Amino acid sequence: MAFISNSQALENVLLTKLDPCICKDVLDGLEDSTMSIKLSQHILSLINWKSFKSDPIRRQFLPLFSEVIPDHPKLILDSLGEKKNAHGQRIIHRYPNKILFLASKICDTYCAFCTRSYLVGSSTAHVKKIKQLSSIDEDLLYLENYLKTNTNIFDVVISGGDINTVSNKVLIRTLELLLNLDQIRSVRLGSRILTFNPTSLNPDTQLFETIVHYSHSYQKKLKELSLQVHFNHVNEISPKTEENISYLYKNFVKLRNQTVLLDKINNEYETLINLFDKLIKLGVQPYYVYQMDMVKRTEHFRTSIKNSIDLEKSIQGVYPGFLTPKFIVDLPGGGGKVSVSNFYDYDKEQKCYLYHSSIKPSQTHKYYDPIKTEVLNDDNS
Ligand SMILES: *Cc1c(COP(=O)(O)O)cnc(C)c1O
Ligand code: SF4
Repeated sequence: MAFISNSQALENVLLTKLDPCICKDVLDGLEDSTMSIKLSQHILSLINWKSFKSDPIRRQFLPLFSEVIPDHPKLILDSLGEKKNAHGQRIIHRYPNKILFLASKICDTYCAFCTRSYLVGSSTAHVKKIKQLSSIDEDLLYLENYLKTNTNIFDVVISGGDINTVSNKVLIRTLELLLNLDQIRSVRLGSRILTFNPTSLNPDTQLFETIVHYSHSYQKKLKELSLQVHFNHVNEISPKTEENISYLYKNFVKLRNQTVLLDKINNEYETLINLFDKLIKLGVQPYYVYQMDMVKRTEHFRTSIKNSIDLEKSIQGVYPGFLTPKFIVDLPGGGGKVSVSNFYDYDKEQKCYLYHSSIKPSQTHKYYDPIKTEVLNDDNS
């Protein structure tokens, strides 16, 4: 699979499609990003070059220098405090009964708003990242021991990074290990491959076969293996993507979608409805809509909490309850995910929302609205 992974290669492509000024704006934007350059050919094929600036695919993957705005002072790398909840290099343990296992630190395309920009991809001018994760053999052993000493953990999310960047052998070993541990009830594989490179999940690929095979093996043991996908806009669902989702569905693979609310990409009712209508038709459950985390250099992507709450209200009742996504905020500092409307106070001066969470009940977690947001007054709340 050929990727565009340096500015020269990207410039060559862009110059065939765009005015040199806009081209420079893109290259400067990427130079300035927390994420390194990596784009699949497929992603580029989804962009509408005639409305390049406003295109929802372009905006996610090709940030313009001219659209990036100064960060809110509270934005940091690792806003979720993952490093302090890490055990070894790959386990993030924040909730009592579930963990996140980092399969990889690479993806087939890099999203400019990546929450894990402190780790995923290569170093950039702004962010120094580790070159690679430690050996997967040792880390799977570590995972096994960790689970055996924390017997209340029954759910494992395997993500990162994208699971499609892991070798089939390693994926099988990981799934076997978890299948054979009695305490494990569910395993979720996180991947954006259906957006980036849908042909990598054609029914004749090893990845497809492994996911289908293990979905059945898990089911037989009264466990669930599912695929967590990440679509932010309906334009990501190409005919090939649609076809491969239907093959997964026909093979009984459980599919759940996570969406990140992104300004001028999907933070409007119609846009979300178009996405969810499509997903539901294809048998994918709209699971979460995330408030953008308070991550460095994402100010231009962030939306206000009121925006999320309004969307949550307007979508309520449109779909059957089990297909209605939850609107959540993953609390800065590692408080975990809570419903976006569950704040207990709003600080007008700081334009921030205060939340409590059950996993750290004594702490207050603050989500600051984007700088551009107007102060919420009693009469417009
Ligand atoms: C999001 C997340 C999970 C899974 O959370 P769900 O709400 O069950 O989808 C597990 N561990 C960590 C560290 C997470 O960030
Ligand atoms: S697919 Fe996920 S992990 Fe990879 S760059 Fe995008 S947001 Fe980050």
